[in-house]
Amino acid sequence: MNLTIYNTLSRKKEKFVPINKNHVGMYVCGPTVYGSPHLGHARPAITFDVVFRYLQHLGYKVRYVRNITDAGHLENDADEGEDKIAKKAVLEKLEPMEIVQKYTLEYHSSLELLNCLSPSIEPRATGHVIEQIEMVKKMIVNGFAYEQNGSVYLDVTKYNKRYPYGILSGRKIDDTLEGTRELHNQSEKKNSVDFAIWKKADKNHIMRWSSPWGEGFPGWHLECSAMSAKYLGKTFDIHGGGMDLMFPHHEAEIAQSHAANNCTPAKYWMHNNMITIDGQKMGKSLNNFINLEEFFNGNHEKLDRAYHPMTIRFFILQAHYRGTLDFSNSALAAAEKGFLKLISAIQTLKNITHNKVSSFDIKKIEEKYYSSLNDDFNTPILIAHLFDSVKTINALKASKETLNKKDLTKFTSTFEFFIVDVLGLKPITQKKIKDNNIEGIMKILLELRNKAKQNKDFITADMIRDELDKISIQIKDGREGTTWNMKKDD
Ligand code: ZN
Repeated sequence: MNLTIYNTLSRKKEKFVPINKNHVGMYVCGPTVYGSPHLGHARPAITFDVVFRYLQHLGYKVRYVRNITDAGHLENDADEGEDKIAKKAVLEKLEPMEIVQKYTLEYHSSLELLNCLSPSIEPRATGHVIEQIEMVKKMIVNGFAYEQNGSVYLDVTKYNKRYPYGILSGRKIDDTLEGTRELHNQSEKKNSVDFAIWKKADKNHIMRWSSPWGEGFPGWHLECSAMSAKYLGKTFDIHGGGMDLMFPHHEAEIAQSHAANNCTPAKYWMHNNMITIDGQKMGKSLNNFINLEEFFNGNHEKLDRAYHPMTIRFFILQAHYRGTLDFSNSALAAAEKGFLKLISAIQTLKNITHNKVSSFDIKKIEEKYYSSLNDDFNTPILIAHLFDSVKTINALKASKETLNKKDLTKFTSTFEFFIVDVLGLKPITQKKIKDNNIEGIMKILLELRNKAKQNKDFITADMIRDELDKISIQIKDGREGTTWNMKKDD
């Protein structure tokens, strides 16, 4: 099998040759757990889930490491601002680790619904502070980092003389330097392009650790360098993440590995593109930030109704991971239709009886499946071939095509395998998807009831409540709004 991967580092497709024969090390940047997971989290999770599944199918033993950022990620993604988790903790009057626990559980349960396999290791930044401090020490000893008032910075100018900084994102640091030299005195950094690998904690900073430079916390980029090296080695095979992480996060990871270990961290860099909503970037200010749970229950003003997690998964896989993907209700409705078409074809195929002779070559179909994924995990091309197979399955059903027993068995298992095991689409039925829509129906009913109450039409409001009660749906009015649940059978 000739698997090729588009390497962001070389900006071209390269033949995949693992460092260690049949072992593959893959590191993917996970979420900073300070809020509910949204559509933007689903795309890297699903993209690299398919990579994980397919590499294993090709016979590789894969160690898949995906981190949880639970400290050190500051508000502006660089060196300034509050810690995202600490800020949320103050806001919700919780311990930072309660925030971490709450949103990690939400992230896990959403990913489970999306049928993403668990990574082999899911390390956290706070569990690897010692490793991060050790790496900072190495960078200082190697002359690429300096301490200033209890913080430690990577000296990008010095680093850039030995290694190219900006190699991944294509940013020219010389241009940036020219433009920022005048800011020099306003910061304790030697140069404004330098970035913190260890930050001094001021007296209000909650999450802090002792270090040779005083009490502080690790810079956001450092955890990934320290944890990937610990679990996968100083240079490993694949590093993945969203395109938005390319700069500064991944650029900084490359610099840290060179500065501490004198080697590049990963052989292949893979980046998934972003998801837009109605052509716009997702953002809290645009109110188009839709959480995964809201997709699953339809509870968001941008959503016409609820969408099953498998519809979301299919929608994401219908686009190549490097392409942009625009969400709209109509695109999700089309994805649901497409998904159900594939799932019902599995059943149709299982009910077909074999013939004495085969009228076509199933090997050619199988080759098409493989060649699409071997071409940089091209899932939309694979899905197009699977849809072609649906036509073939319908022709078999109508006896316009035939397969002998051996070929039919092989075709059935291959078709199902690529849908269920490689693309990770669970074979759920149309009925299940309809059941899922009850969430959407309830949302409409409760809105109607609320409107009635606002208009002081209590007769209608009570009628909705009483009629729902008759069909075992109980609604409760609370401070946070109205909730509902199915009454348990006595
Ligand atoms: Zn990372």
